[in-house]
Amino acid sequence: MEAGVLHQTVSDVISIREFLQSWDASVIHDSRREAKDSADIETFAELMELDKETVKELDQVCSLDHLKNTQEPVDRWRILGEIPEDLNLMCVRFQKREMEKRKDPAYNMIVQKKIRQKMSTRMNMPTLNQTRRKIPPQFQVTYPEVILTVHIHKPMLTMKDKRPTLTNEHSFLVLGHEKLTELRDYIRCTNDLAIPGDQSDFPDCVMHNYAKDIFKSGFFYIEGTFYNDTRESDCRDYSQNIIKWAKEKNLGQMESHLMEECTFLDLKIRLGQPYVYVHQGDCEHIIIFSDIRLLSSEDPQDTREYPFLTFRIRSRRNVCKVCMTRTAKWVVYDSEYAPENPCFFCDQCFRPLHYDINGIKKGEFKAYKYFDNQAIV
Ligand SMILES: [Zn+2]
Ligand SMILES: [Zn+2]
Repeated sequence: MEAGVLHQTVSDVISIREFLQSWDASVIHDSRREAKDSADIETFAELMELDKETVKELDQVCSLDHLKNTQEPVDRWRILGEIPEDLNLMCVRFQKREMEKRKDPAYNMIVQKKIRQKMSTRMNMPTLNQTRRKIPPQFQVTYPEVILTVHIHKPMLTMKDKRPTLTNEHSFLVLGHEKLTELRDYIRCTNDLAIPGDQSDFPDCVMHNYAKDIFKSGFFYIEGTFYNDTRESDCRDYSQNIIKWAKEKNLGQMESHLMEECTFLDLKIRLGQPYVYVHQGDCEHIIIFSDIRLLSSEDPQDTREYPFLTFRIRSRRNVCKVCMTRTAKWVVYDSEYAPENPCFFCDQCFRPLHYDINGIKKGEFKAYKYFDNQAIV
């Protein structure tokens, strides 16, 4: 189902619960694959209508271990570099041409730089330790279970022609039985860590209230339904105004549910369809489900590991516009000493420029504490 997303197509509506219920019990058992024990051999013998000895023999003869040549060490890079002359495959031709081009030091330097940038994003796959270690029974995943791949994107304008584009910020694996609020709590956004309000009059004041502690409301909008987070008494229902507006404009009936009462099994989704997550009043993120499948023994078996982060972008840090070295700590509006508006400053450059020797503010400007993306781990 991942391929559908790559081709930018959208699937039909899928009820997660019906998807889970549609699988035959024997398939669900196989998806667990609790090692190659006698139960597996028995199941395969029954499905293949063969006796157990034959299945055991097949298991040994067809083992992946036979594909390894243990006699000589494999030099992967040497093999990749030796392209046979008689191969006419398109991908091999591209590889050959690319290798020729990289002999040019200037071109090679550009490519290496691009590779380094790509490597700076973090991929995280379940390790053997996460899938096989002993887990207390209360945290053990229960079968059958559905696992979904969900991507959180940030919409933004391209630098070149200001066209809207999406940047993948995080990707998670989530379990069907998890509540939507569990995903919400894992979505990291710098706006949650902002200190609200202009601090130019008291820059030394240490504020402990982050925006997420003050403005706790948020919702997911999925297939015509708003899922509002109302866990705290001061949460606002953002959806009511939108539902009212949609009704007035004849845009169809929209529903609203409580985020903390819904699990992913309760959802109906389209794979590849952009949905919305809104928090901090107007901070919007796009959410895309790209895959739905049964949980297998290759996935983490501990419910505490979920939502399981599989990808996180590591964007470039925002540096101070004065020293161009240190990470920005302030974003300043309407400053007569700034080269641009708004402008980012580190603490060491911000203070001497905007305050005199006695700490008195110079000019009219607004200053907000800034948290760089790199501050979020
Ligand atoms: Zn946000
Ligand atoms: Zn600086």
